[in-house]
Formats: sequence, structure tokens, C-alpha cells
Amino acid sequence: MTDITAYDSAIGVDLGGTRIKAGAVDRDGRVVARVTIDTEADGGPDHVIDRIVAVIEELLDTPAVSKAPMVGVGIGAPGALSQSRGVVISPPNLPGWREVAIATKVGTRVKLPILLENDANCAAVGESLAGAGRGIRDLVMFTLGTGVGSGIILEGRLLRGHFESAGELGHTIVQPDGRACLCGQRGCLEAYASAGHIARRVREAMEAGETSSLADTLAERGEIDAQDVAAASEHDVLAGRIWDDACRYLAIACVNAQHAMNPQRVILGGGMSAAGDRLLTPVREHFNRLTWPGVNDRPEIVLASLGDDAGLIGAAAVMLSKAGTGDRAPGRAD
Ligand SMILES: [Zn+2]
Repeated sequence: MTDITAYDSAIGVDLGGTRIKAGAVDRDGRVVARVTIDTEADGGPDHVIDRIVAVIEELLDTPAVSKAPMVGVGIGAPGALSQSRGVVISPPNLPGWREVAIATKVGTRVKLPILLENDANCAAVGESLAGAGRGIRDLVMFTLGTGVGSGIILEGRLLRGHFESAGELGHTIVQPDGRACLCGQRGCLEAYASAGHIARRVREAMEAGETSSLADTLAERGEIDAQDVAAASEHDVLAGRIWDDACRYLAIACVNAQHAMNPQRVILGGGMSAAGDRLLTPVREHFNRLTWPGVNDRPEIVLASLGDDAGLIGAAAVMLSKAGTGDRAPGRAD
């Protein structure tokens, strides 16, 4: 375990629908101590907040952490939120949460400054500080999971926008009047390139009569996921088509990001990035085919490197950068 007594540190909390992952993180993005517990989201907001407070207190009691200057807690949360008010608005995977003032509720109990940030923005900041975006001042990160999140760092700063909801590239429209997205729009990137929709598209095609080896998987397990589709994509016609189509839509989003933000690097993270080259290679091929020909100044498309830790490292980094002492990390959020 790294001794961080010489460094400022912050606690990062990655609040997910299933798990709460928390860690004490130093200014170099090193996780010094960590705790993961089930969210128990069915218990409602107050119960989940009790659990967040409990993991923060457990971390603060850890010997290496208790000796270090602690600047505060960053909380990464899903869905729409107001960072300036510290309010989670209505995350799809946290039932019963409506306008929950999480920053105030947690802050008064742990007696530390609290900063709330969108989870995909946290992942972008985390990768920027300590992962695949280290040293990169202009980057776009996609988190490919049940949905598609994204975070944009431009000129070293996290982009928030006037209404604090910049970086929702998962809901940019890549197919006019296309598939219905949970957000209410049609044709969103998320409706084609998220793990949830990839699995759903394969199921829909099988229900419409297409044959696939994944029918056996579905019969055995009662479900299929995007990893099954990725694994089958090399030998199964249906899986190959849907997977390649998801990669093509992702490449379209990368081209759009290239022209809007001009990033040096595009980082693909989230659970789907476990597919590795099965994801990266077709996205790069589609991107090279779709983008401006003859222009060499193109973003490099890479896989994320922090895995599950990106969210909590980024949540802590958001707090550390706001605290503003010592060296400032790239991807600072102020
Ligand atoms: Zn959408």
C-alpha cells in the first residue's frame, strides 16, 4: 500500500445501480485504499446515502488515509444531475430518486466538502489523470455499458456547458427516426452501440426468425449479453452483423466528435471495452473509412486502461482539482 501521508488525497465514490465503489486517491491518481459494497438501491435514497456515508467513514478510518490531508469527497453518479446544486435529478438505475440533494446529505454527516459529478465525466477525468488519457489535454471518452455515457475534456478542462449536461454523446442522433432510446428520443447512439441494445437487437432478430448460435445461449441462461454477441461475432452471421453495426455507429460518433471537439484521443471504456480488439479494430476501420480522406490529423482511438477504477479515481480527481492546492492534474474540473 502506498504511503500518501505526504500528499493531499480525496475520496472518490462511484455510485452505481448495483455497487458503490469508493477509494482514497492521491494527486497522482493512485488508489490508496478501497471499499466496494452493494448499493441496495431498492432501499431508496436515504438507505443508499447511509451506505455511502458508511464507506466514506470506513475509508477515513483506514490508517494510511487517516494520516493524510483529506480535501473532500467526489461522488460520481449516473444520469442527469446538477453539479452546482449537488443534486441528483432522476437516475434511471436508482429507483425512487427524484431531486436528491446528495452533496448536502452526505456532507453534513461526514463533515467534508462534497462535489457531485456525472459518472461518465468522472471516468474521463480518471483516464485523463491516470489512464489512457494521461498527459492528453483534448480527449473524448465513451463509457460503453448498459447505456452509452461520455465525457469531454478540452484544453485540459472538463466540458460542462451552460445547462451542465455537455458530453451526452450517447444521445446524439446517429440514425434519424431510428430505434427508440430510453431517453425518449429516437436514433440515439445508445440505441445502437450500448451493451443493452446490442443484446436486444440480437434477440429481436431471432424473434423475427433469424437463426443464430446465440439461441442456445439464450435457452440455457435465459438471457444474452453484449459480451456473448462480441464472442460470437467471428463465427455467427447474426452476431457478426449486429456487433459490426454497433461498431459502425460508434465510429460515426467518433467522426462527429472529431469534427466537433477535435480531440487528440478518443477512449473507449466501460464494460464493453472488455471485448478488446474485437471492439477496437472494427471501430478504427469504420472510422478510417468514414472520416475525411487525406487528413492525417485524426484522433487516435484507444481502449481505456483503468477498468473499473476510472469512475472512483475521476470522482476523487474532480474533488482534488477543485481543492486547488499543489500540482494540478490534467482533466481538472474547475
Ligand atoms: Zn437517447
